[in-house]
Amino acid sequence: MIDEETYNDLNQGWGGRNFREPVHFAYQSPVEKIMYDPERGYPLSWRELFNVCTYYRQTTGSILPTDVVMLLTNRPNALNWFSAYEGHDVFIHTADWAQFIPAPPVYPIAYQVLANLLRLHTGLPITGKGSVGPLHEQTIGCMNDLCLHKSQVALKLRTGDICDTCLTQLKVHEVPDWLVDTILSGFERLRKQMLFRQGFRQAQGPGPVRVNEHYQITFPEQGNLVLSIPTLQRLLYLFLLKHPQGVDRQHLPDYKSELLNLYGLISGSGSRDVMVDNVNRLTNRLDNSFVEKVSKINAQLNKTLGESLAKPYRIVGKRGGIYRITLPIGSEESIRE
Ligand SMILES: [Zn+2]
Repeated sequence: MIDEETYNDLNQGWGGRNFREPVHFAYQSPVEKIMYDPERGYPLSWRELFNVCTYYRQTTGSILPTDVVMLLTNRPNALNWFSAYEGHDVFIHTADWAQFIPAPPVYPIAYQVLANLLRLHTGLPITGKGSVGPLHEQTIGCMNDLCLHKSQVALKLRTGDICDTCLTQLKVHEVPDWLVDTILSGFERLRKQMLFRQGFRQAQGPGPVRVNEHYQITFPEQGNLVLSIPTLQRLLYLFLLKHPQGVDRQHLPDYKSELLNLYGLISGSGSRDVMVDNVNRLTNRLDNSFVEKVSKINAQLNKTLGESLAKPYRIVGKRGGIYRITLPIGSEESIRE
């Protein structure tokens, strides 16, 4: 029997590649297809899910057999697993996480991406029903816990760990150390960010701000969350970090050359004229640029850290007066210097 399937969801780009039309393909199936009914949530079979990966490989043409294809889908799968792999193809179920994890679903989904990347490198098959391959049926807080009760998944996200048996397995299958290390540190970052979001750090005061070699602003004690803001806002924030006592807005024009130097370092190849122009506007009391940047930075801090935890990192100041970041002096960690 030939069945057909159309996937509209695949129109969203992945890795810069786009399907412009809904993905439609035919495949051999021993059983009649059950149509998807959103009300009843009919699951897809693993075969169907892996078929999408295969189809993606075939149609894209530029994917090597050793490349990993991951299908992130909100459609449930027949065996109700969080994820599974076959060869270098992976599917991950992206819906319903709120039932199991008190954190935004992006964390457990990112965890599944990392865990599968590592697991599939062992080459051990996961065959679903009857055989669970390298997975533990008993929940021990290891990446490879099967989590028969789905709520048990919270434990492995909290430990962010791989047990000794599984580490040995990875060695036996010659999974490179760098990959294991990268994925373990990925687990650790997710773990910290999740705990942090759940408010575990609130009583301990603000952690430092770190400025890395690319002049990115990160929060190391919050799982290295990045303050993702455009260059000019970054310039202003870094400048204020360098002046923990604050800067009087009336005197900003005195700092033009300092701002320009820092700007040059941050933006690397930016045009000098544009930079001079931007710094002139930023330091001009009659221009809105400064106040506008301050409020955008503060908004992004709230978004990144949550409103109450963002507070000490925010820029405070009165129009026309002194502006500063309220962090305790010495909270900037720079790994450039
Ligand atoms: Zn294990």
